[in-house]
Amino acid sequence: MNIYEKRLDAVFEKIEKARTKVSEHQIIKLVAVSKSVTSKEVELLYNAGQRAFGENRVQELAKKCEELENLPLEWHFIGRLQKNKINALLDQNISLIHSCESFSLAKEIDKRLEAKGKKVNILLQINSAKEDSKSGVMPEVANEEYLKILSECKNVNLLGVMSMGAHEDDRKLVQKSFEATYKIFESLKSHGASICSMGMSGDYELAISCGSNMVRLGSTIFH
Ligand SMILES: *Cc1c(COP(=O)(O)O)cnc(C)c1O
Repeated sequence: MNIYEKRLDAVFEKIEKARTKVSEHQIIKLVAVSKSVTSKEVELLYNAGQRAFGENRVQELAKKCEELENLPLEWHFIGRLQKNKINALLDQNISLIHSCESFSLAKEIDKRLEAKGKKVNILLQINSAKEDSKSGVMPEVANEEYLKILSECKNVNLLGVMSMGAHEDDRKLVQKSFEATYKIFESLKSHGASICSMGMSGDYELAISCGSNMVRLGSTIFH
């Protein structure tokens, strides 16, 4: 096994342990966050078996998309999306935008999609930790915003929610923020929500134990 295969293996082993504690039927998707590495490293991880990659800047995503266009990769956008970058993002083949942080951003994305005659998959980002440094809708209004996007933005496929765990050393507080997101996700299942994207290198096992089914891992894979 090369180093990339070993790192993936180690991560999948931990995911597997956390997952089976919740349910044998829970399927977890891994998005490898490549924002701090080169296209070469993405290719090496692809060769080790990974398909889904996440980037948090539109320009960098476009660059890697182009450099790696011969590989059947799945690109995820996980960063703050400025309105003037929406078109550039939608020009790429995007599998999922995790970081739609408001109804108004969804509306903007929807308008651009209408003009392009395209559709895109998105998640509504929820700021369950209520931290100023994080984007996303407040948990109290998340349900309402979600339903508004569903009914008014016909060109986006709204598939669920995304959140970042509280930036705290106290695991109980991190857990509380994940649980808050999961509760909202659960209540939206009847409206078609199927993806709950939460968990990063430092907290993905905890996120999975709280019901996450998509984790976004950078440093633990790429160091
Ligand atoms: C960078 C980033 C990650 C990955 O973080 P690591 O701690 O390196 O695993 C996940 N999600 C978002 C939104 C990020 O910006």
